[in-house]
Amino acid sequence: SKQIDLIRKQCRIIVSGEDIPAPIKNFEDMEFKRPILDTLKDKGIVQPTPIQVQGLPVALSGRDMIGIASTGSGKTLVFVLPLIMIALREEKMMPIGAGEGPIGLIICPSRELARQTYEVVEQFVAPLVEAGYPPLRSLLCIGGVDMRSQLDAVRRGVHIVVATPGRLKDLLVKKKMNLDACRYLTLDEADRLVDLGFEDDIREVFDHFKSQRQTLLFSATMPAKIQVFARSALVKPVMVNVGRAGA
Ligand code: ADP
Ligand code: MG
Repeated sequence: SKQIDLIRKQCRIIVSGEDIPAPIKNFEDMEFKRPILDTLKDKGIVQPTPIQVQGLPVALSGRDMIGIASTGSGKTLVFVLPLIMIALREEKMMPIGAGEGPIGLIICPSRELARQTYEVVEQFVAPLVEAGYPPLRSLLCIGGVDMRSQLDAVRRGVHIVVATPGRLKDLLVKKKMNLDACRYLTLDEADRLVDLGFEDDIREVFDHFKSQRQTLLFSATMPAKIQVFARSALVKPVMVNVGRAGA
């Protein structure tokens, strides 16, 4: 419709793909639980950024997505908040038991980025738990950290794993963790993941999924290499491109 086109134009959002969900005007347009909206406010996050305006409804709709927007444009929340909503829904229908999970997996190219992303997840999950929602357990799965505490967490059962490729592959190959229940995969900073040579590791991770997965790929740039990779890894993706990056 005209209204939708106008929002996209004002935000300099370029979309491609079939049946693209409508952009939002504010966070209240998303069916986020109240504690999530409160946490956004507490963090001083009032107005969604362009990638959030279009990316949040796409991600929560269950569609595969390619999100391209510059550094600092707020991509993290585009995959974190829908994942939390999906994990709450799944947990309500079929609780994660000991040794099970995760429901959602976020792969990052570096330990620092994984750590930051994990902290964002925790910032939004803790108030939900306090408000009486099912306690979602998240795990930071990176190298350079004693594996024992990670194994303990996996044994208790986890909902959300934020990982770097190396330690993740290690746990999967050693069958310490499985992706049997995983249905949501995010590849953050995909350009860096590919540049650092993690493409084959990630393809191996794909093989561990049992059920159909939703895949979201985020990047600041969209070189041909990433486009080829995305085409092989995603199904009927919605592409959301903010600004002029690769357009
Ligand atoms: P990117 O991954 O695109 O580089 P981040 O997700 O790391 O960007 O976000 C960059 C910073 O912007 C973070 O400090 C985050 O808390 C903040 N931020 C995210 N969304 C908003 C928003 N809608 N309004 C204001 N600040 C935001
Ligand atoms: Mg980022």
